[in-house]
Amino acid sequence: MSKPIIIIGSGFAAYQLVKTLRRQNTQQAITVITACDGDDYNKPDLSHVFSKKQTAGDLVRMNALQFAAEYNITLLTRHRVDSIDTLNKTLTANNKQFAYDKLVLATGASAFIPPTQGCGSDRIITLNSLSEYKNAQQTLTEAESVLVIGAGLIGTEIAMDLSSSGRKVVMVDPAKSLLAAMLPDFIAAQLYQSLGNSGVDINLGTKVSRLEQAADGRSMDITLDCGRTFQVDAVISAAGLQANARLASEAGISCRRGIVVDSKLQTSARDVYALGDCAEIQGKLQPFLQPILLSANALAKTLLGQPSEIKLPAMLVKVKTPDYPIQLCGSTTQAEARWQIDASNQGMTAKAFDNNDQLIGFVVTQEHMKQAFPLLRQLPPAL
Ligand SMILES: Cc1cc2nc3c(=O)[nH]c(=O)nc-3n(C[C@H](O)[C@H](O)[C@H](O)COP(=O)(O)OP(=O)(O)OC[C@H]3O[C@@H](n4cnc5c(N)ncnc54)[C@H](O)[C@@H]3O)c2cc1C
Repeated sequence: MSKPIIIIGSGFAAYQLVKTLRRQNTQQAITVITACDGDDYNKPDLSHVFSKKQTAGDLVRMNALQFAAEYNITLLTRHRVDSIDTLNKTLTANNKQFAYDKLVLATGASAFIPPTQGCGSDRIITLNSLSEYKNAQQTLTEAESVLVIGAGLIGTEIAMDLSSSGRKVVMVDPAKSLLAAMLPDFIAAQLYQSLGNSGVDINLGTKVSRLEQAADGRSMDITLDCGRTFQVDAVISAAGLQANARLASEAGISCRRGIVVDSKLQTSARDVYALGDCAEIQGKLQPFLQPILLSANALAKTLLGQPSEIKLPAMLVKVKTPDYPIQLCGSTTQAEARWQIDASNQGMTAKAFDNNDQLIGFVVTQEHMKQAFPLLRQLPPAL
C-alpha cells in the first residue's frame, strides 16, 4: 500500500490543506495526526466569545469525526507527535510509528507567557486555541474583573470584547502605545481613547512584576513594575506567539523564529514541508489566515506532483475592535515614512510614503475602511 501524506496538526493550516487537496484529488491517502481534539473551528472567533456569550462548543463548525468522514481522511486525535525520522521518513506519536510519503508540519504557535514573580503564574490563561478557551471558560464566565497582559492585536481585541461584556478590564504592556508593532502613534492614540471610553484601564510602559493568589483564594493580587497594585479574578496573557518548531528542530530541520521554508514551503528535509503559524517563509512569520490559505493552495499542488511557488499579495490586517474598527496593510510603523492623513469625524485614512513618494502602507479606520481595497491595489506584493 502506498504511504500517505501525513499532516501534523488540525488547525486552520492543516484543515485548509486537507480541503484543498481533496478538491484536486479524491483518492490520495491523507492522515492527520493532532495533539488536540481535532474539531474544526474558526480561531478568530475567540476574539468575541465574551460579548457573544459563546461557549467553546458553540464555535465548533464540524467535529473531528464529521471532518474525517467529510474529507475521507484518517484522523488521529489526541496523538502528540514526539519525533520525526527524516531519513527513514517515519514519525512516532503515542508510542506508534507511522511512515509517510510526504510530511507537512502544521503545528501552529504557542502563546507566550511573560515570566513574573509570585505563585500565581500557573493561573494565567491563554486563548490561542479552542481547548485553551474550553479549559478557562468557567473561570472567565465567573470573573468580574480580568487583567489582559499584552496590548497587541489579540490583547486589544480581547480587552474590548471583555469590556463590552460588562467586565472590569485592566490592560498592561511595556510598549508605549497600543498595537505598537502595527500602528503609528496617531492612530494608536485614537484606539486608546476608544478603549478608555469603554472603561478599559490601560497601563502602558510597565509590566506585571508579581502575581500571587489573593487571601480569598479566588482572586489574584497583581503588582506592576511601576508599583501599582490591584486585584483581579482572572489573568489572560496575550503577549505574543512562539512558533511550535521544537519537533522540527529536534529532527534536525532548519529553524529560526519558525520552521524555515522556501518559496514552495519545503523545509531543509526531503519531502517535509511546513505551513501556517509554525512556518518562517523567506524570513517572515505570517500568522494570519489569508497567507495560510494562499500557501495551502500552492502546497496542495506541490504535494500532488505539480511544484508551485507561493505568491503573497499585499494583505489586509483587520483589527476586530468594533468600537473603533481598523484595517491596515504594508509598512505602517517605519520611522522614516511620510504620512498623508485625511481625517473626519467618520474616521481616518492615513497613507505612508517612502522617500520616493511610493505608497508603502496605509491605515484606515471606521467609515474610511471602504478605502481599504482601492489602496490595497496600489501596494506592491508582500512576497
Ligand atoms: C484570538 C485570535 C484571533 C485571531 N484573529 C485573526 C483574524 O482576525 N484574522 C486572521 O487572519 N488571523 C487571526 N488570528 C490568527 C489565526 O487564527 C492563526 O494564524 C491561524 O489560526 C493559525 O493556524 P495554524 O493551523 O497554523 O495553527 P494552530 O491553530 O495553532 O494549529 C496547530 C495545530 O497543531 C497541533 N500540534 C502542535 N504540535 C503538535 C504535535 N507535536 N503533535 C501533534 N499535533 C500538534 C495542535 O494541536 C493544533 O491542532 C487570530 C488568532 C487568535 C488567537
